[in-house]
Amino acid sequence: MNVFQRRESEVRSYVRSFPVVFERASGCHLYDREGRAYLDFFCGAGALNYGHNPDGMKQALIRYLQEDGVAHSLDMATVAKQRFLERFESVILQPRRLDYKVQFTAPTGTNAVEAALKLARKVKGRGNVIAFSQGYHGLSAGALAITANQHYRHESWINRLNVSFLPYDGYLGAGVNTIDYLRKTLEDTSSGVDKPAAVIVETVQAEGGVNVAAKRWLQDLAAVCRDHDILLLVDDIQVGCGRTGPFFSFESAGIVPDMVILSKSIGGYGLPMALVLLRPELDQWKPGEHTGTFRGNNLAFVAASEALRHWETPDLAAAVAARGRELEAGLRAIAAEFSELGAKVRGTGLIYGLEFADPARCAASARAAFARSLIIEVCGSRKNVLKFLPPLVIDAATLARGLGLVREAIQSTLAAPVSP
Ligand code: PMP
Repeated sequence: MNVFQRRESEVRSYVRSFPVVFERASGCHLYDREGRAYLDFFCGAGALNYGHNPDGMKQALIRYLQEDGVAHSLDMATVAKQRFLERFESVILQPRRLDYKVQFTAPTGTNAVEAALKLARKVKGRGNVIAFSQGYHGLSAGALAITANQHYRHESWINRLNVSFLPYDGYLGAGVNTIDYLRKTLEDTSSGVDKPAAVIVETVQAEGGVNVAAKRWLQDLAAVCRDHDILLLVDDIQVGCGRTGPFFSFESAGIVPDMVILSKSIGGYGLPMALVLLRPELDQWKPGEHTGTFRGNNLAFVAASEALRHWETPDLAAAVAARGRELEAGLRAIAAEFSELGAKVRGTGLIYGLEFADPARCAASARAAFARSLIIEVCGSRKNVLKFLPPLVIDAATLARGLGLVREAIQSTLAAPVSP
């Protein structure tokens, strides 16, 4: 029994799916202790959009450490934070004509979700929040309450108040616009759904099975929120920072959320950092009303400032679109070749899902992929969707190689019956 099994809590998860000890990482690959290379199609669940240890960020971090730059600073002003804010303003906000204040929260996604919910409720003076079926927003109490996935919810955790779940886009089939139901619910004072402070939504439900909301649906959602004086919060933690092509996932729908929640890849190098973007008039916090010790991870500011260089030109967004088309075509070819699986392909940019009719087959395919040195995770409430999250900077040949490994992996599972 190794030390992980002996000492680390049973709650550990990815170490079970990928049971090797990793030592190094570079670009699209992780390397285990024996030096074996693994192609990473999971990328820290979306925290490594720029790949592992990208050189520009690494050099900036080394320089900063060598110069004895401040590492920890609560939320005091530092040169590293100043650079990040200035660059975020000039590279991300101004070109998009977005005017948001930036709230740094404690560094994980769920921390930023909590802050956004708290502020939305405070500003509107209403307790209820609307969230969507299959949604995932984190696992601390408030964020868990708006997370739909039953795997994470337990009857004994009595923290699920003040939330109403409504059907996400496509939940009732392609012919039904679930926004009609939302609108009716809000117009009817006896619908049983209290008027919420906010609606929180993922434009692509990543953990929920790669469910992509239509642009039109997002626009309708934004209109309902406006008509009813409800704040629209976009959780862009997993699919922001270029995952769908543009920096923000909602840009292609042409909507402007009242708050945007970012974490994961905003830190650039996989360093913890999270923030909430707020329309200035919503910034009604009193000084220090929502604090936290780790809101000033200066190493993350340094890496994040460097990462934003990617957004000074349209090149990365264009590369995501090009690789995304190749990924989709490759997955459609796999689904067609193994038509007996009844697999479905969906996604956008560089987040795609391959949905299997049989969850056991999906799990077996992920295991077989790992045996071929490809790291890939499953998602969806039935865990029957293989989720493709390659680095945004992947080249065409490496992407094709990964798709080849997936094809081989799936084929290998067809030789014998699969066990769950
Ligand atoms: N929201 C979304 C959309 C996420 O994908 C995640 C993480 N998978 C979270 C919130 C929670 O982030 P964290 O795990 O950093 O708390």
